[in-house]
Amino acid sequence: MTTPSSPGGEGYRAVHRRSLEDPAAFWSAEARLIHWNSPWEQVCDYSNPPFVKWFPGGTTNLCFNAVDRHLAAWADHPALITISTETNETVTLTFRELYQRVNAMAAVLRAHGVTKGDRVLIYLPNIAEGPVAMLACVRIGAIHSVVFGGFAAPSLATRIDDCQPKLIISADAGMRGGKIISYKPLLDEAIRLAKFPPKCVLLLSRGLDPAMNYVRGRDIDLRVELARHDGAEVPIEWVDATHPSYILYTSGTTGTPKGIVRDTGGSAVALMHTMQTIYPGKAGEPYFCTSDIGWQVGHSYGVYGTLMQGMTSILYEGLPIRPDAGIWWKIVQDYRAVMMFSSPTAIRVLRRQDPAFLKKYDTSSLRYLYLAGEPLDVPTSEWIESALNVPVIDNYWQTETGWPILAGFPGSGKLERKLGSPGLPCAGYDLTLIGDESGPVTEENGERKGVLAIRPPLPPGCFPTLWQDDARFLETYFKERDANGKMVYTTFDWATMDEAGFVTILGRTDDIINVAGHRLGTREIEEALSAHPAVAECAVVGVKDEIKGQAVFACVVIKAGEQPEGEAAKAALIDGLKREVDTRLGAIARPNAIHFLTALPKTRSGKILRRGIRALAEGRDPGDLSTLEDGGALDQVRAAV
Ligand code: ATP
Ligand code: MG
Repeated sequence: MTTPSSPGGEGYRAVHRRSLEDPAAFWSAEARLIHWNSPWEQVCDYSNPPFVKWFPGGTTNLCFNAVDRHLAAWADHPALITISTETNETVTLTFRELYQRVNAMAAVLRAHGVTKGDRVLIYLPNIAEGPVAMLACVRIGAIHSVVFGGFAAPSLATRIDDCQPKLIISADAGMRGGKIISYKPLLDEAIRLAKFPPKCVLLLSRGLDPAMNYVRGRDIDLRVELARHDGAEVPIEWVDATHPSYILYTSGTTGTPKGIVRDTGGSAVALMHTMQTIYPGKAGEPYFCTSDIGWQVGHSYGVYGTLMQGMTSILYEGLPIRPDAGIWWKIVQDYRAVMMFSSPTAIRVLRRQDPAFLKKYDTSSLRYLYLAGEPLDVPTSEWIESALNVPVIDNYWQTETGWPILAGFPGSGKLERKLGSPGLPCAGYDLTLIGDESGPVTEENGERKGVLAIRPPLPPGCFPTLWQDDARFLETYFKERDANGKMVYTTFDWATMDEAGFVTILGRTDDIINVAGHRLGTREIEEALSAHPAVAECAVVGVKDEIKGQAVFACVVIKAGEQPEGEAAKAALIDGLKREVDTRLGAIARPNAIHFLTALPKTRSGKILRRGIRALAEGRDPGDLSTLEDGGALDQVRAAV
């Protein structure tokens, strides 16, 4: 099939240019990549800026595109493989088996009164039932909201109250590092706290928590229900392209999570566009996504994008270092994965381990490694690229957009990359830089620096609004103006743009460090510290300083085997680290304090919680910590200051 994104040897720049010159022509051609039940009336309805509707009037279905559509050619080919190194269980479902499972699940939902537009909250570990439940929801037009399994009760309660699910699908427990995490007590507590408790909970017993109780009249054994509906066929509910397919809450790195809404048609088209250009994989080929389905990457490239392309989606439950640090490379080898999607955080964890694990397995099937979620520092990027001998493709996006804003495009004839940058803008993203309260856009050596913003309308696949909160959508994202006074969407990320169009992310606008009038992104100083061979990971924040305005406060995790012994060695290491910053950025950026920790405070999605570090360093209360992975690292910061 020829679409505007097909490789024509001209590279992706031309594709991007066309997408902005004539969006309607561009996206209507791309829309041929998916199956429509009936055609749209309009490609883009932008009559009420900044709200945009893509393909209104057209009807389609995500489950049909991800599953039913492949039955003709790929029925007996694996669609989904879930591997757990926690329970040592691997589940392989062919497209036919996935179809059967999804239909049975959809029948169960129907039997419990779930209909089009109802919300279903999914609180499951990264096991096959997760994608099955997601696909069953969209099959019948229900709106799923996956909440990361094991999230604390108050966080879960807030999400229940925000999306008010008719029903919750959960399990007895998840596992992490060999430890059982019982979900049921968390779920019961969340439902007790919620103002809008669901009437029904479907519970899957994995046999991990024999103590799991069933609340009479509310809790139902999911296995019994699935057996009852085994063999059922539930017809596809064709929905309008603008019908919400799911709600997903952001990671909560900077504050309270926002309920991101995803549409159906635009999102399917955007994902299929990326499957040709950024993640060029063919039907039948395996794609290994290490993200949990509770995160955006898991939705887009653990379930929908990969399956719509007819690829085999491989999901994983467990740690990257258990049973040992070679487990992911073993998965690549055993399943001959052609693409792998992970995060810089996970790769930094692996970089702290014995590099011999990378040599142990045959990873030659791999064509590309994709990393997203946090800035990818150059040392980590170079390390993994040389170890795997495949291009590492950094891609930058937000839960809000659902797919990359910046990326490399190996599927478009020419892969252009710049070390340290996630690349060039993706189709439909009209990027610009704006000033903010920290200062105006600046220009130095051909590089412009400012807050990364997008001129609306946002392209297909991006969130049309926040769940039942148009006001917060406008107030949060669209209050900024560009140099011409035109409304823009702000990403809240600070970035540089060079003359060739490459964008580099410097950190969150919340985290900009202002030392004696010089503005620095956290990324710039962290990158300098990471260049020191002893550093495994680091986090930098700016703390209030009477004289300089702000002082640089650094937390550093040292690689195993590089720990300084004794005070003299420690002082020497601190000196070495400061020198690294001096030579790369100048003395202005030199950290005033460097603390050695054994772990950095991170959110459950693996992002560094700098606002927590900064609060403690300034002697303030760290505030909402509901998204924190575990309190240990923050306690270390507390002890250090
Ligand atoms: P919240 O918005 O609730 O505070 P969050 O921003 O962490 O949470 P996500 O949507 O999961 O929630 O993360 C998007 C953010 O992650 C981006 O705005 C950016 O700061 C960061 N990010 C993602 N990918 C990259 C990347 N490739 N390079 C640099 N930063 C990235
Ligand atoms: Mg965000």
